[in-house]
Amino acid sequence: MSYVDEVIARVKEKNPGQPEFHQTIDEVLESLRPVIERDEEKYKKMALLERLTEPERQVKFRVPWVDDNGQVQVNCGYRVQFNSAIGPYKGGLRFHPSVNIGILKFLGFEQIFKNSLTGLPIGGGKGGSDFDPKGKSDMEVMRFCQSFMTELFRHVGADTDVPAGDIGVGGREIGYMYGQYKRLTNKYESVLTGKGLSYGGSLARTQATGYGLLYFTRALLKLNGIDIAGKTVIVSGSGNVATYAIEKAYQMGAKPVTCSDSNGWVYDPEGIDLEALKEIKEVNRARLTEYKKYRPDSEYHEGKGVWTVKADIALPCATQNELDLDDAKTLVANGVVAVCEGANMPSTLEATKYLQENKIVFGPAKAANAGGVATSALEMSQNAERLSWTFEEVDEKLCGIMENIVANIDAAAKEYGMDGDYVAGANIAGFKKVLDAMEAQGIV
Ligand code: NDP
Repeated sequence: MSYVDEVIARVKEKNPGQPEFHQTIDEVLESLRPVIERDEEKYKKMALLERLTEPERQVKFRVPWVDDNGQVQVNCGYRVQFNSAIGPYKGGLRFHPSVNIGILKFLGFEQIFKNSLTGLPIGGGKGGSDFDPKGKSDMEVMRFCQSFMTELFRHVGADTDVPAGDIGVGGREIGYMYGQYKRLTNKYESVLTGKGLSYGGSLARTQATGYGLLYFTRALLKLNGIDIAGKTVIVSGSGNVATYAIEKAYQMGAKPVTCSDSNGWVYDPEGIDLEALKEIKEVNRARLTEYKKYRPDSEYHEGKGVWTVKADIALPCATQNELDLDDAKTLVANGVVAVCEGANMPSTLEATKYLQENKIVFGPAKAANAGGVATSALEMSQNAERLSWTFEEVDEKLCGIMENIVANIDAAAKEYGMDGDYVAGANIAGFKKVLDAMEAQGIV
């Protein structure tokens, strides 16, 4: 059995009941095979892959809080500090009832390579809680965030671990957590990113993942001789990533016609009304059923279905495994030319394989959505300098980083004889710097 196969088997055996973690291990290690096989004995002797797939540290803790009725509630909090070879752990916090250690390990593992791809000095981590902010009052969310940080503060710090937002964690939650960190430590430091502008946040961080996704998609399409202008785009999700992907798609002359939430999806043939979407989701924190009130000619459908709409480009921006093999077949049958992942691992392995086999330009999440964490790292730089850059400065850096990522993953794929396989290209390009740093730092 090859070293890669041995490690894949061992990780699955040692981490039962964590299908999402197994899925990312399969995807990443499979595509690292040609790199490992160039010097298999050496890497095996130094247990490189065993160390890479075992988080450096995992913290799990109780989060008690009191709801508006005086009832005590208890949630579970986590932080997975996966790899700090190239910088302090960096990665979001997710508040969603589905959160468990397996999902956070999948996200933390992906984050190692994504962060490396940005070219910035940040390691990989991820955390969160099974707390559901939906339907909670502001005061309930604040009490939860304060309790969460009352434990998390021991494990994070500007040079140790710098969390950010993710699903269910936006500006409100980051603000409450930052306030509590400051109170507990008496330090005004860059311990969280995605902060508000009045207390150390970076301009363009809110937009960064969605904008970055479009900068990436435009560059990847250009590499393949396709112009994004005039293309019809189907987007899933209606949160932070989806909203700003839609905004930038318009700015590039494309037409986004769908969005979704966990209850249903909207098809607006005239193009999604961005202002309506922002008002529904960002201001009213309401459901997409409201959209029809703004656009009576649009369609609202319960359940899944975004991928059935005929379009040129698909941008999954909701959550993991939301695009399966059947969806991939529908996209190919409908003539889609590109799929770029805004969410983390939104396509199943089978879907990814099918899309690649059918010559769809496929941009994997760890490269395509790296704009968020890249801008978070820019926020850390600004905090360290005690300066605030203009929106244009940050946006220009973001665009440059995303275009660089496209060039690097393309070059890595070519170097290993896998031209056009950007999944392999992203894994290899991200891995090489981490590998180099791990080798240099010895057995730690
Ligand atoms: P938000 O919480 O702002 O939005 C998430 C969106 O996805 C909502 O529309 C939500 O619908 C929908 N969604 C969440 N879970 C499910 C589910 N199980 N089934 C169907 N729809 C679901 O999160 P973000 O936009 O920040 O994150 C979206 C994705 O992008 C995630 O995979 C995240 O990890 C990834 N990402 C985010 C980054 C960021 O900077 N924010 C950076 C890089 C990646 P509903 O409101 O009904 O729950």
